[in-house]
Amino acid sequence: MSTDNANNMQDYHVFGEYGGVNPSITDSATFTFMTTEKMQQLFSEEVEGCFLYSRHLNPSSHHLSQAIAAMEGTEDAQVMGSGMGAISSTLMQICSSGDEIISSRTIYGGSYAIMKNFFPKFGINTHFVDITDLEVIKSKINEHTKVIYCETISNPLLEIADLREIRKICDEHDIKLVVDNTFSPLVVSPIQLGAHIVVYSLTKYINGMNDTTGGAVCGTHEFICSLKSVNDGAAMLLGPVFDSYRASNVLKNMRTLHIRMVQHSKNGMYMAKKLEEAGVKIFYPGLPSHPQHELIKSMINPEFGYSSMITIDAKDEETANKFMMAMQDAKVGFFAVSLGFYKTLFSSPGSSTSSEIPKEEQDEMGMTSGLVRFSVGLDMDIERSYKRVEECMKKVGMI
Ligand code: PLP
Repeated sequence: MSTDNANNMQDYHVFGEYGGVNPSITDSATFTFMTTEKMQQLFSEEVEGCFLYSRHLNPSSHHLSQAIAAMEGTEDAQVMGSGMGAISSTLMQICSSGDEIISSRTIYGGSYAIMKNFFPKFGINTHFVDITDLEVIKSKINEHTKVIYCETISNPLLEIADLREIRKICDEHDIKLVVDNTFSPLVVSPIQLGAHIVVYSLTKYINGMNDTTGGAVCGTHEFICSLKSVNDGAAMLLGPVFDSYRASNVLKNMRTLHIRMVQHSKNGMYMAKKLEEAGVKIFYPGLPSHPQHELIKSMINPEFGYSSMITIDAKDEETANKFMMAMQDAKVGFFAVSLGFYKTLFSSPGSSTSSEIPKEEQDEMGMTSGLVRFSVGLDMDIERSYKRVEECMKKVGMI
């Protein structure tokens, strides 16, 4: 299945206007029309291959959108200026005042914050739940529920959402299942497991270069057109557009995603096994000790492994901080938020990417202050990298 997705992504190819092997970059915000009728038509409906204004659609972002749709197996996609642009536009497009969202409580801090603190200003309220507990999800459904929102592999505790089962619940109540697959592109294909809409932060694995933010929404042609509607489309009216130069770069970088994901996962698995052998408390879905290992095994496209996100418990905040600084000094990687880079990145979720989640709620979901989240990089010699990690753990008294 996944190889099909990777193949489809590669089959989507557009030449430059002089036969260049990459599409030309469209360096224009607006586009000319040869007839007044055509422009009028475009304001009332989608016209294939016709461009109006770059906040609506630009050929360069269109090519990237189509490559992502091919990878995801959706009819259409729309790229955005950031992952948060994709998430906020999607949820605001679906929900109106009075509607409710049921969201996993272990999600990226920005996604949590927009649902917890920002959407209530517009009368959209969210119930945060343990997404691994299907009965709790069901108990929060009422006639106002419009969306169930989750991450395939959650940030930062790496819990797995059982997309097949959650979709069954959605079908019973006519609810949309929106899935953030940022941690596992190609590894999991959420549409094949039941997601209605898949969102991405392209900033991470898909671009892989850490040189820009970017986002994408993948879904039906109808939904993507609704996002771009000049009258009531969240993408068109809130304006989280992706610049054409950046879109062109991300498309080129995405051409190696399948190779990078294989290598990330290989290194992630090596590092996870070694850390577990060393006696560290570890969360990695690829290890049989992960409580949902069998579930994720049934969801992945095996040739791409289990991705390279690992979270460990360094016992307490002070040790975690010393450990991260020691790893940076030992050139294991960088103390930085984000993920999917060629270098290993590590940070402490409680005080960074999940700091938007109040302390009591962090405690409730098992997010302790000693957690260190790794995005394992594309290291050529992962054994050498692990030896460095081991030295750092000894130095700070973790082992
Ligand atoms: N989704 C996940 C899982 C993330 O980790 C992040 C960012 O860290 C986002 C969404 C938001 O993406 P962006 O920073 O591109 O807006």
